[in-house]
Amino acid sequence: MTPSATITRTTEAPAILTPPRRRNGPWLWIIPSCPFCGSRHTHGAGRDGNRSGSRVAHCTTSSPKPSYRLTPITEANAA
Ligand SMILES: [Zn+2]
Repeated sequence: MTPSATITRTTEAPAILTPPRRRNGPWLWIIPSCPFCGSRHTHGAGRDGNRSGSRVAHCTTSSPKPSYRLTPITEANAA
């Protein structure tokens, strides 16, 4: 492991994968508590709910904008 020249500002965000509310609607990632601002956010997860990975946090004004890695949890664990 060598130190990286670029500072990555990625942190983990617990996220709940939520099925479509409507037929043919998109799956959603619900982040109950954003690691940066503490608010609830949603991100699209695609039609199959298989789009995961990282998302840019749109709630901060810092530059470059930080991102978080979607960490799947169940609603029971959301506390
Ligand atoms: Zn936020």
